[in-house]
Amino acid sequence: MSRARIVLWLSLTLRSARSLCRARFMEGQSQGPPNPAAMENGTQPCGEERPPEAQETTVTEGAAKIAFPSANEVFYNPVQEFNRDLTCAVITEFARIQLGAKGIQIKVPGEKDVQKVVVDLSEQEEDKAELKESPNLAPGDQPRTAAVGEICEEGLRVLEGLAASGLRSIRFAREVPGLQFVVANDASARAVDLIRRNVQLNDVAHLRLRTWSFAPRMLMYQHQKASERFDVIDLDPYGSPAPFLDAAVQAVSEGGLLCVTCTDMAVLAGNSGETCYSKYGAMALKSRACHEMVSGEVAVGAGLMAGTTHLQALRIVLHSLDLRANCYQRFVVPLLSISADFYVRVFVRVFTGQAKVKASASKQALVFQCVGCGAFHLQRLGKASGASGGRVKFSAACGPPVAPECEHCGQRHQLGGPLWAEPLHDLDFVGHVLEAVSANPSRFHTAERIRGVLSVITEELPDVPLYYTLDQLSSTVHCSTPSLLQLRSALLHAGFRVSISHACKNAVKTDAPSSALWDIMRCWEKECPVKRERLSETSPAFRILSVEPRLQANFTIRDDANPSSRQRGLKRFQANPEANWGPRPRARPGGKAAGEAMEERRRLLQNKRKEPAEDPAQQAARLKTFPCKRFKEKRNPTEAAELQAKVHSQPPYSHQGTCQRGDQCCYSHSPPTSKVTTEATPSDCQNSPGPGAAAGPGVD
Ligand SMILES: [Zn+2]
Ligand SMILES: [Zn+2]
Repeated sequence: MSRARIVLWLSLTLRSARSLCRARFMEGQSQGPPNPAAMENGTQPCGEERPPEAQETTVTEGAAKIAFPSANEVFYNPVQEFNRDLTCAVITEFARIQLGAKGIQIKVPGEKDVQKVVVDLSEQEEDKAELKESPNLAPGDQPRTAAVGEICEEGLRVLEGLAASGLRSIRFAREVPGLQFVVANDASARAVDLIRRNVQLNDVAHLRLRTWSFAPRMLMYQHQKASERFDVIDLDPYGSPAPFLDAAVQAVSEGGLLCVTCTDMAVLAGNSGETCYSKYGAMALKSRACHEMVSGEVAVGAGLMAGTTHLQALRIVLHSLDLRANCYQRFVVPLLSISADFYVRVFVRVFTGQAKVKASASKQALVFQCVGCGAFHLQRLGKASGASGGRVKFSAACGPPVAPECEHCGQRHQLGGPLWAEPLHDLDFVGHVLEAVSANPSRFHTAERIRGVLSVITEELPDVPLYYTLDQLSSTVHCSTPSLLQLRSALLHAGFRVSISHACKNAVKTDAPSSALWDIMRCWEKECPVKRERLSETSPAFRILSVEPRLQANFTIRDDANPSSRQRGLKRFQANPEANWGPRPRARPGGKAAGEAMEERRRLLQNKRKEPAEDPAQQAARLKTFPCKRFKEKRNPTEAAELQAKVHSQPPYSHQGTCQRGDQCCYSHSPPTSKVTTEATPSDCQNSPGPGAAAGPGVD
């Protein structure tokens, strides 16, 4: 934001002109399905007029200057600049590959004019090569080029389905080379007015930036025909993109790029698994500590997946996309999947192939997660095995991977998924984006963060779908917390692989089985012992610690336990960007006063926002995730620590603190088991907005 210039616009023109113009546009709209050629100059009819009542703010981001109504900031969320910068970087790299295959070299602003070697993305690309109409460049030919600010007839056809202010589309037009046209579509007439003004303001109409006003789904369904599909579809809706996915997987061209943002993290994080199922076709497991009543005693299992929230969300979205594509003999190949701030964002390519769709079942997995200790196991939905003659044989998978009771703590398992269990990224592609952004840091305002996040991604273990977090490992056994370096070193000494994850700074992503992890924690506990008499005999901690470790953990720090991105001091994990950050509320009519009222409401509701249709059971479950204030009241630190250790052996806990409600209290009376749970914000470690959640390089 430091660079953004904020200017006040005074409106001068008349409402009558504007409504006349809209009427003209609506006429145009009724003439049947949209056609890029027919709507060449969609920006013409509206001219320069602005609504008279609007006080406007303009913001400069990237190469775009955007005007939006001051009172309605739904049209601009500065926190998402990273998302938009990254999207420009990804589409640029995608254009480099796609146009490179046609013998066209793209010219990226700020890049030195060297012939880049274009490497094909994947084998699908090779299968496709023969379909290309233009032959590859013959040796000695002058390369054709495509620069920013010029139309490339063989370039990418881009659709932004829910364009709001048009910011993304304008940035694509002004910053990404090799585009044939960009469609900025929004169903709302107000948004379309705004997009038109911004297209004028940025002088991009000559770049075939078209402004359409269709229901996004209808628009995409009308572009299912192979010749009318888009090469890039960007969906950045308010909340869930689920209603648009079926149309999107059909409207994207062969090998085309689908970019999808999800901000409905409460649903994807398992706050109501059944809602997640109805939207995405998968049960999300709740990431907060699970509270279980076992024979009158409170057994607190801090879910090991707690930090996994955002990875689970990414994998559910990918599962959902692949499943919908499968209906049409298509399948997705993820290029890059990002968890950032309050949203997740996936970039996938969509291909067609009846034979390859058969492999989709074996790419998805159910998750069994222990409610006591949080250990998890994945169960693939199908089995793909190599048969004779190099052909792949598909069959039903065998399971379950766990016994009815957890082998470590004796408690039950919850079932989540199916999730996408294959890699989240195409590391080759991520490497290209990383290289381009690192070599050209002045191109994006958030280049430093892109570099940090992508560097961490290249360090992630690609074949380990989920991770444990440090805090939950130690809080489950009620012991002190080893440093991440110590834990990583112990895993490496024991012969396992381990990595961090861009989605959480405390992540322990490892191919070690949960039994080995618990062995390491048992060894750690021996160095700083937990008083056994304070543990209930049925608690996960007691059961885990009563078994002797089968391996001797070595916590001596190893050099290779320190990730290169950390050694180099890259900006890997984002601190809270600004006050009241988060997804913007829906666009609504109303002037400045409404905006201020909204601001106040947001302040009150911060971190408490919920899905609109929450039923009483959901609400009760949500309230139970917040600690009861009365329960915690009037206790000095020593008492609190004792309480935390003794809680398992004190079933009638209604006498704790000053809360008299006992079991009837709508808030949680469980002891906070770690810093993460005491924060009581419904989001996970990296992403907790609020004081104390800031994180930077070297925190671990
Ligand atoms: Zn367990
Ligand atoms: Zn209470």
